Amino acid sequence: MNEKIVSLKLKPSQRPRVLQGHPWVFGNEVEATLAPEFEGEAVACRDSRGRSLGTGIYNSRSQIVWRRFSWRGSVALDADYLQTALAAAISRREPEEARRLVWSESDDLPGLVVDQYGDVLVVQALTLAMDKRLQLIGNILHELLQPREIVFRNDAPVRTREGLPLGVATRSGAEFEAWWAGIGGIEFRVDLGAGQKTGFYLDQRHEHQRVARWAAGRRVFDAFCNQGGFALQCARAGAASVWGVDSSEEAVKQAVGNAEHNQLKASFEVANVFDFLRLGSDTWDLVVLDPPPFAKSKAEMDGALRGYKEINLRAMKRMTPGGILATYACSHNMSHSIFLEVLGQAAADARRKVRVLEFCHQPTDHPVIPNMAESEYLRGFVLRID
Ligand code: SAH
Repeated sequence: MNEKIVSLKLKPSQRPRVLQGHPWVFGNEVEATLAPEFEGEAVACRDSRGRSLGTGIYNSRSQIVWRRFSWRGSVALDADYLQTALAAAISRREPEEARRLVWSESDDLPGLVVDQYGDVLVVQALTLAMDKRLQLIGNILHELLQPREIVFRNDAPVRTREGLPLGVATRSGAEFEAWWAGIGGIEFRVDLGAGQKTGFYLDQRHEHQRVARWAAGRRVFDAFCNQGGFALQCARAGAASVWGVDSSEEAVKQAVGNAEHNQLKASFEVANVFDFLRLGSDTWDLVVLDPPPFAKSKAEMDGALRGYKEINLRAMKRMTPGGILATYACSHNMSHSIFLEVLGQAAADARRKVRVLEFCHQPTDHPVIPNMAESEYLRGFVLRID
């Protein structure tokens, strides 16, 4: 590890976001790149007048060449730092059977994600610096929590932007097997070979239960159901009937298996939600809309807004008076106020009176950093449709 910490320097006359406290510096914002030995290492960064912006990880191959992990000017990214940061991240979490233990910049470990499912940990390294230290990180996590297994799920496509290969491995070296993980009182099959994210949409786990509070006696439609998180919690809460739709065959197969394993009554179908809502005529008392991010960048916003409006409009038209619509957007560009405006337009076109009952947000183990807009990415509303 580099003992002596070198510095990147910002170009003058630039107004980069890092000067407002954002943790990232982009390649076009720095005067010069550093010697190859600093790739994936801790380096300091200074503004054009030489003032310190803290210590971060460096990767010249990434568009984001520097990500701050400390405001101090020379901090080594060594075993001591990792041990302290990991222990601190874990101590900030509420005790829960399934939870996110580490979330990247929010936990001063840029590019490291650690999820816990009971006695199994799933680790993702999304930056070169974390990838280089993965074995060490695995050892520290093992010492801190004594998990049965640690799975290194390094197949997220964003890794290629850091010049990293894709693959999945376990700490023990044994082949990983799908297992049943308890999440909110239901056992879900967590299959790393096929599951999305680290196996489950952990960021929606509290919302599954929030929505289920409205489900008793209602006919429920869970659009974009994936493994059936919303659908199965609603079934458990006494819904009159539950129908889930997802375009992924694998996800629907898992949802069906989850329902059977938990002896819950819910039906699932492989379908495109846009077509399903356009072509069908059934009405519902409770609808969940939890689509994938339609807008990953600002440039895609116009199309995304049309998409959000269309599904919400179509869902509203299909709701019985007094029905509950739980609607989400998982794109940081979609602010609460823009989202609310879209819902207002959908309500006007559907000629329905809509009232907001609850404001929803990503859970506290995915902490938002005020200086980093990207960290706030998941919002929703529970609406009453009359
Ligand atoms: N509600 C889920 C998470 C949904 S993620 C939960 O809480 O666990 C978004 C899901 O939408 C993914 O499972 C993806 O397969 C599915 N999807 C994407 N586009 C779709 C479309 N046009 N129609 C139906 N499903 C779609």
